[in-house]
Amino acid sequence: MFLRVDKLQFELPAPEEANPQAASTVQELMGGKFGEMSTLMNYMHQSFNFRNREALKPYYDLIANITAEELGHVELVSATINSLLAGPDPVERQDPVDPSSAPFAGFQDARFTQYFIAGGPGTLVQDTRGVPWTGDNVFSSGNLTLDLLHNFFLESGARQHKLRVYEMNTDPVAKQLCGYLLIRGGVHQIAYAKALEKLTGSNVEKMLPLPDVPTHLIPECKALMDQGIHRALYRFSPADYTSMGEIWNGTHPDDGSEVFVTDDLPVGGKAPDGGHESAGFAPFYDMGNVRIEAGEVEEIAKKIHRKSGNK
Ligand code: MN
Ligand code: MN
Repeated sequence: MFLRVDKLQFELPAPEEANPQAASTVQELMGGKFGEMSTLMNYMHQSFNFRNREALKPYYDLIANITAEELGHVELVSATINSLLAGPDPVERQDPVDPSSAPFAGFQDARFTQYFIAGGPGTLVQDTRGVPWTGDNVFSSGNLTLDLLHNFFLESGARQHKLRVYEMNTDPVAKQLCGYLLIRGGVHQIAYAKALEKLTGSNVEKMLPLPDVPTHLIPECKALMDQGIHRALYRFSPADYTSMGEIWNGTHPDDGSEVFVTDDLPVGGKAPDGGHESAGFAPFYDMGNVRIEAGEVEEIAKKIHRKSGNK
């Protein structure tokens, strides 16, 4: 089962401007073949299908535990997209909008108009082509060596795509997201390399860094490496997945530092709140007998919140 903490794994900066085009580039990290939906669903189903868990416990623990971190990465990518759609200032309660005035006309040129038609606006579970994420992206073979090799390949491809999305963006929120995910993807990539090495004796770490960009040359990554975040494997469980340290040990191939498993959760940060969007939500209307007032939904929410003993 899963627990949930109502925080992002990483504190995102405020976006400089509303930028739906930038948001659409980040979609590859959500619903792309090498995006966070893919890493999540690959490890989740590999852990569900895992046979002989007791005998192979360090490998099971590693895959099952990273699953939980990937779910938080999906959340973080979504927060980034939503933040880029909302812009720097949460929208205050607006005056009612007249729907006949084409209040959404400015979104016609957006790369993904569907953000505003279906999403309200919000993240879509699709890649940068607008193609929905598919279960065809999951590889779960029942062969542990093959699955680990696939996972190493998946994390390597994911890092390549993160780097390219990073290179495509100037907005701090998109760049910070890529920097953080490059570091965390690096941890997973190295963890699967270490797992393969321990299982087969082959030195997969010799292929690193893959892609061949020293991570510390990226400023957003360097700041995180100075905090040791590239060395930590977070244990996302109060009492389980205790054997990961049998794989995640020794040195980090980038800088020779010692890697470690920690029970501390990432410090994290608050998810941005895009605020209310009158035009996309419920335009004011008055048909004589039916009248929707601005703020009515919030009033109802406040009432039931107070009824349950809150102030
Ligand atoms: Mn990830
Ligand atoms: Mn990963």
